[in-house]
Amino acid sequence: MAMLDIKHLTTEFTTENGVVRAVRDVSLHVEKGEVLGIVGESGSGKSQTMFSVMGLLAQNGKITNGSIQIDGEEISPAVITEKKEYEAKMDRIRGNDMAMIFQDPMTFLNPVLRIQTQLIEPIINHNPGISKKEAIDRAIELMRKVGIPSPETRIRQYPFQFSGGMRQRIIIAIALACDPKIIIADEPTTALDVTIQAQVLELISNLKEEIDSSIIMITHDLGVVASICDRIAIMYGGKIVEEGTTDEIFYEPKHPYTKGLLSCISNPEELERKELHPIPGSPPDLLNIENNCPFADRCEHAMKVCKMAMPQAEKFSETHFCSCWLNHPYAQGKGV
Ligand code: SF4
Ligand code: MG
Repeated sequence: MAMLDIKHLTTEFTTENGVVRAVRDVSLHVEKGEVLGIVGESGSGKSQTMFSVMGLLAQNGKITNGSIQIDGEEISPAVITEKKEYEAKMDRIRGNDMAMIFQDPMTFLNPVLRIQTQLIEPIINHNPGISKKEAIDRAIELMRKVGIPSPETRIRQYPFQFSGGMRQRIIIAIALACDPKIIIADEPTTALDVTIQAQVLELISNLKEEIDSSIIMITHDLGVVASICDRIAIMYGGKIVEEGTTDEIFYEPKHPYTKGLLSCISNPEELERKELHPIPGSPPDLLNIENNCPFADRCEHAMKVCKMAMPQAEKFSETHFCSCWLNHPYAQGKGV
């Protein structure tokens, strides 16, 4: 069974100028122990999809439709309409079944508390009855697991005494502390310099073998997902436009946007270092967006039909799907 199963998720934000449709009918699933990459430019809806799952949307945001199941348990406020019931459920699930790793560790770490205090809290919460001594031992073990040298002394230090890369390792240790079913990492290495970024990615990649949590990596950088993910979903304009195994996305891309993302990568050895800015134009305005192909204004293959209707997902294998009129029998050979 899928550890996370999202069906027809729609999330909207009410603004002074109208309704912003940030996540539009998104369906996704992540299996136990699997690493899924969600890739897209800023504003594509990838972070809002995950904030919807975590129940961390801004005040003006609302899930208007769709189901979200964690290990079979429904957690969508569009289904659980009792606000109190939903909030109680999310309080239990966040930091227990789900943990999140953010881009900037300092938004998460408390600068005036020692690492020890911040690390043993989730351990104690997750293991009622555990002694403080045992919790500290476990915290030290976790610090060692994420590659922090001399954890016995460093656990007594404050966040500012650690480098950016080491702080991100602490965040990962905190995420692991409650043995979550799902870890959601939102651009976890973007703020780090290239060498440190590679080290943190290597850590996540190694952990993947050791833990059975499912991991969702949200990123704008296709190189990041190449080395770590089992499957990749490409998001554009609030929609998943293509989804497949990492090999399918890299070697048999179907969507013009995916191809655009890949086109700047000439040497596969370089995959891990490239940033993606290959496509001219900017993402669609999700305010009052029409129900046509969101990529139509930037796509060199755009046909009449692309501006009139949203293409349905076509299936290329058990794992590979793409929503583009080019692949649709209707458009093939018709020159529409
Ligand atoms: Fe391009 Fe049309 Fe495919 Fe959209 S549906 S990506 S505009 S060809
Ligand atoms: Mg984001």
